[in-house]
Amino acid sequence: MSDIYTLGIQGKIVTQHSPDFEAAIARRATQSVLRAAYIVYPLTVKDIPLAINFALAQDPPLEIAIKGGGCHTSSNSSTDGGLVIDLCRMNAVKVSEDKKTVTIQGGALWGDVYIEADKQGVAVVGGNTWFVGVGGYLTGGGYSSLSGEYGLAIDNLLSAEVVLADGRVVRCSENEEPDLFWAIRGGGNQFGVVTEFVVKAHPGIESALVGALAYPATELDNVLEVVKNFLDKQGSNAWLNIGFLRMPPHYKPCIMLIPTIYGDQAAATASIQSFHTEITPIFGQTGFVAGSNAIAHGGDAFLLNAPPRSSIGGAYFGEFRIDVAREIFSDWMKFTAEEGFKESLVMFEFAKRGKVDSVPLSATAFPVRDPHWFMASAARYHDPSLDKSAKDWVAKITSYAKDKNEESTGKRLCTPTNWAQGPDYETLEEVFGENLLRLRKVKAKYDQKKVWRRGWVIEPL
Ligand SMILES: Cc1cc2nc3c(=O)[nH]c(=O)nc-3n(C[C@H](O)[C@H](O)[C@H](O)COP(=O)(O)OP(=O)(O)OC[C@H]3O[C@@H](n4cnc5c(N)ncnc54)[C@H](O)[C@@H]3O)c2cc1C
Repeated sequence: MSDIYTLGIQGKIVTQHSPDFEAAIARRATQSVLRAAYIVYPLTVKDIPLAINFALAQDPPLEIAIKGGGCHTSSNSSTDGGLVIDLCRMNAVKVSEDKKTVTIQGGALWGDVYIEADKQGVAVVGGNTWFVGVGGYLTGGGYSSLSGEYGLAIDNLLSAEVVLADGRVVRCSENEEPDLFWAIRGGGNQFGVVTEFVVKAHPGIESALVGALAYPATELDNVLEVVKNFLDKQGSNAWLNIGFLRMPPHYKPCIMLIPTIYGDQAAATASIQSFHTEITPIFGQTGFVAGSNAIAHGGDAFLLNAPPRSSIGGAYFGEFRIDVAREIFSDWMKFTAEEGFKESLVMFEFAKRGKVDSVPLSATAFPVRDPHWFMASAARYHDPSLDKSAKDWVAKITSYAKDKNEESTGKRLCTPTNWAQGPDYETLEEVFGENLLRLRKVKAKYDQKKVWRRGWVIEPL
């Protein structure tokens, strides 16, 4: 067996004997941790083919996992006994001189991007939370509070650099390796290690209304009605999240409205006036910030104190039904009344529709271009013995939302990889939908031997 230390990898290598092994396999959700044999932290793109060749030269070949920000609550960025390519040291961000594009290395977090983008006075379509990884988020689609204005993050991707299974480093765009470019926009980790993304830059964020307003559970119907009216008038600059959660220390259930509204301050304030006048928050604080990084830190108090384990799943829907939201609320109330799950939550995310669904389904591998919004449920807990109950609840509540959407619209919408739980819970058809057939053909072209086989493994055709 060759020695990994003799290969000339410039980045760091960690094995089970290294003092920092436990930190190297850690993930944001503890249940996603698997015990790899090797963790390679490439410093440059040249390290990656060396790591791939090493893994494939072992007998039997080692499974390879790709890690970006480590935020997905599945174990798709981890491997049991294999080799992890952890991109966290490849996190550079550069805004072009003409301020039209931003080049982001594949291991950056959105916070890294926003710090640089803010400095240069530009904005990009990225995650709403600073610690989410660019790599997983972008290869899975990417919703943003700017999606109403500019579409999905992948709709703003201009080109990418990818290390393929055979070690070749290629650039893809609409004109170069177009099949690969199509596939990495929604096809997840199945085509290679994306080491660089070049995205469109937009005008910087001069002002955004942010904050949160909380209402007691007894106000549910009124809050949902106010939200419905808000959505009727929603501008493309406005994004809204409704959260069902229990606030510490007493864990009384509440409904939280979390708006992000860009642009003119008076108009932004007026657009959420009904959140104060037609319903009365038990607390409500909104204000104005400048720059994307401040917005991406808005959830810190809540997200950074989360329990160590969490399972997240999502469901897409074409119509916002109050009866369905009410039923989900009631199920969430029962689930979170159980000891062990009181920190779990449900969120509905609303970006103005029109932009995301203006892109044809066949333009990228992303599987949902019908006008839609989505909900995400997160079972958050401490006790490892609750892993299965957590996932089962997430599956139950998201299936209910999918069934009800199908009942209303006649169509069952996919759950793209970023909001799906993992291959034990959603099938390939459910995460890739009508685009699966072409994904299988592209897989045959770029990864016939299925070197990339963590998560939803696409069968080459
Ligand atoms: C707190 C929180 C907030 C979130 N907010 C949003 C949001 O606002 N909008 C949204 O759309 N989603 C959001 N998500 C979902 C998020 O987009 C996914 O969990 C995403 O997969 C995270 O990417 P990552 O790089 O951090 O994850 P990882 O766990 O590192 O990776 C996830 C998957 O992507 C693959 N991957 C990662 N990097 C690369 C790469 N460079 N090349 C190839 N494959 C790669 C991994 O192999 C794995 O399969 C959120 C999730 C959390 C936990």
